[in-house]
Amino acid sequence: MDDMKTDCKGCSATVRVTPAEAEDAFAKLRLPPGTRLADETEYRRRLDICSSCVELEYGTTCRQCGCLVQVRAHLASDGCPRPGGSGWKK
Ligand code: SF4
Repeated sequence: MDDMKTDCKGCSATVRVTPAEAEDAFAKLRLPPGTRLADETEYRRRLDICSSCVELEYGTTCRQCGCLVQVRAHLASDGCPRPGGSGWKK
């Protein structure tokens, strides 16, 4: 049997990225003009919160939205999707 067919897509190493790779993915994004970004302090604050959140997988992926938090946290208008209230709320 082909090894590829036995791999679970949900936990395959190929779908995991490191925090550095997630940051690199953000750097390569072509954002629409006018996209507002969080400043460095806010970005770090958000990631600090994510780092201790039970919803974070692999240090990069939010289980609530499936997004890379190193990308989402850069976008000023994006919030934390945690049910019951944003974990990023000040
Ligand atoms: S639920 Fe919110 S705090 Fe938790 S990992 Fe997702 S974005 Fe971060």
